[in-house]
Amino acid sequence: MKILNIAGARPNFIKLAPLQSAMEGCEGIETRIVHTGQHYDANMSALFFEDLEIPPPHINLEVGSASHAVQTAQIMMRFEQVLLDEQPDLIVVVGDVNSTIACSLTAVKHHIPVAHVEAGLRSFDRSMPEEINRILTDAISDLLFTTEPSGNHNLQREGVPVEKIHFVGNTMIDTLVKNREKAEGAGILEHLGISPGRYAVMTLHRPGNIDSPGVLQNILSACEKIQESMPIIFPIHPHTLNTIRGSALQEKMNSLAGLRIIDPLGYLDFFKLMREALFVLTDSGGIQEETTFLGIPCLTLRDNTERLITVDQGTNTIVGTRADRITAEAARIMAGAGKKGTIPEKWDGRAAERITDVIRETMGPPSDAVGKGAR
Ligand code: UDP
Repeated sequence: MKILNIAGARPNFIKLAPLQSAMEGCEGIETRIVHTGQHYDANMSALFFEDLEIPPPHINLEVGSASHAVQTAQIMMRFEQVLLDEQPDLIVVVGDVNSTIACSLTAVKHHIPVAHVEAGLRSFDRSMPEEINRILTDAISDLLFTTEPSGNHNLQREGVPVEKIHFVGNTMIDTLVKNREKAEGAGILEHLGISPGRYAVMTLHRPGNIDSPGVLQNILSACEKIQESMPIIFPIHPHTLNTIRGSALQEKMNSLAGLRIIDPLGYLDFFKLMREALFVLTDSGGIQEETTFLGIPCLTLRDNTERLITVDQGTNTIVGTRADRITAEAARIMAGAGKKGTIPEKWDGRAAERITDVIRETMGPPSDAVGKGAR
């Protein structure tokens, strides 16, 4: 069975790593990694292949940045040729980025089955480009692998046949489990001159927060207050930096001594930074899950989440983007009342193995074909 594993953006590489490794060890499966080139800066792409020991992509579509329509169309045009050349039996897509929907749509039109890893998550906010990518990818996928029970409920409500849905756990957590010890040795705290438990970490990149100056201003007002008591380390996403470059908001950010803006970090450094933080402020999807696994309080700077389990069972609190709410929740954590949680079911480091088993069972030849005659 020939499988193309697709990845295009930073969170994709983290989900791809355990899948590629589980499939490589599997007799009868031949894999190729296709990088769409959606993220291409060294510290958003190559560094992850290095940190996570992912083999270099077999194919790179090198699409780069563009508007949603141009980027999606470019991926589809270039990926179609890959499908014609490679003739895969299955493609595996992860997450909710433009590469996810673009490659899925191209494959189904060629009657090539699609497996979607991290299926069924719904924020019910269709103004998010990721939500559209999730809904469309799930609607055309043949195998849907979910990370939490809400994913199964959402898919069934949308009419996906139950036999296509598999609750397997979380490949992002597989990577966290695998790299726990290695990240211990990362030197980021010494490099920044900070001590465990005495700083916060922030990441921001969702269009809803970045593209609206009013919203970003509110978040910054909260940061201004928090950084008076606790430094905030802010590895800034390239999209965020490009959006604010030269603006009054950037000037304001630079003027806050306790808000330390740094380049995006590699996986191991960021893991160490997150694990030793007192709390995390974020609009990232994956970081809501990672903080839940690590037991670090997470304040999500959005009005909703598609990762319900991180709120119901984990350490996540949805605080929105009003400055007073963000500062009040941060103050509670700094006073020692941070949210505690438990680790969700099947977030045990073995999701990629389960996915590979399901793929073999459903897509491979019948296991008892030999000797009994093919059914
Ligand atoms: N991450 C990282 N370096 C950073 C910021 C984030 O390695 O400077 C990792 C983080 O640990 C998580 C992933 O990137 O595994 C999240 O990616 P992102 O927030 O870009 O995407 P999302 O999860 O929102 O789709």
